Amino acid sequence: MNDCLFCKIIAGEIPSEKVYQDDLVTAFRDINPVAPTHILIIPNKHIATINDLTLEDENLVGHLFTTGKTLAKEDGIDESGYRLIINVNRDGGQEIYHLHLHLIGGQKMRHPMG
Ligand code: 5GP
Ligand code: ZN
Repeated sequence: MNDCLFCKIIAGEIPSEKVYQDDLVTAFRDINPVAPTHILIIPNKHIATINDLTLEDENLVGHLFTTGKTLAKEDGIDESGYRLIINVNRDGGQEIYHLHLHLIGGQKMRHPMG
């Protein structure tokens, strides 16, 4: 856990452009954005992947999504549209093993789902 990049970002040990933080989640701009808005929303507690969720995390996961829609409105993309994406493990394209919800929008982007 001490080696986790995103845990270090939450703790402020690695700099990031934070846009929101509360008791449950932290949100910051992706270092390599694929669209004008590209924000990562992550739980403050270390959870590696969606596969590691338990029933106790259901409130937390809901909060990731409601934070996502709030930040979409703040960035002015709630009406034009956006994607909320969670990648899981190798074939899902996950590179950082601390659960994160991508908020991506501001332009139409190419995506395997069309
Ligand atoms: P994944 O592929 O795991 O779903 O997404 C990981 C995301 O984390 C990528 O979009 C990548 O650009 C972003 N990322 C990786 N390292 C850093 C970092 O040090 N700071 C920030 N802000 N984003 C990062
Ligand atoms: Zn972590």
